[in-house]
Amino acid sequence: MLVDGLTGIAHCLTVKAFAAGRRAGDCYVALCGARVLPERLTAPARYHCRACERGG
Ligand SMILES: [Zn+2]
Repeated sequence: MLVDGLTGIAHCLTVKAFAAGRRAGDCYVALCGARVLPERLTAPARYHCRACERGG
């Protein structure tokens, strides 16, 4: 689970996507296809992404 800093929405990531995002300089692609830029300060999630909860 990764919270997007812009929207406050928590997305799900596969292990593979997480590793790729780390290499890409903290730019992740969530299960639903959304780009996620994690908040530097740990912020609580406002919403959970429904597309991710369904499994993409
Ligand atoms: Zn999502």
